[in-house]
Amino acid sequence: MNPNLFAERLEIELTTALNVLLAAVAARMMLLHWEVRCATCSALLALPLTALQLKSHYSCLSCQNDVLISLNDDISISFSLNPVYSGLGQQHNEDFRSAIDQQYGSVSAHTMLETQLFQRLFPDQHAKLLELGHTNSAAAG
Ligand SMILES: [Zn+2]
Repeated sequence: MNPNLFAERLEIELTTALNVLLAAVAARMMLLHWEVRCATCSALLALPLTALQLKSHYSCLSCQNDVLISLNDDISISFSLNPVYSGLGQQHNEDFRSAIDQQYGSVSAHTMLETQLFQRLFPDQHAKLLELGHTNSAAAG
């Protein structure tokens, strides 16, 4: 996934999008991909697993150029869901979910109510939670 697409879909700054995506990478939920392309002919030169594997020069087999790598123009990054988490069937499995909830604790609707990004991305649902919260505290008080 292109982080610019992620940021645009969520209507958040790229910096925020990268923070979210990188945190998910650190938690091993997403994978970070590096892609090196020839600036002259766009041929794929390398798909290093980490930035540590990047080289300063690549030889392009397509256009025979010796490519001196520019971080701005020749190397792009993208993210993908860690395949471990892409088994959707598993996420819908009740036993699996309750085991995860027991281990990590479940996140409440109230937490969503207090999450600014939730308010910004899902204003209707946030308003509904706010309404429910008021109704319940009025009933309790
Ligand atoms: Zn080339």
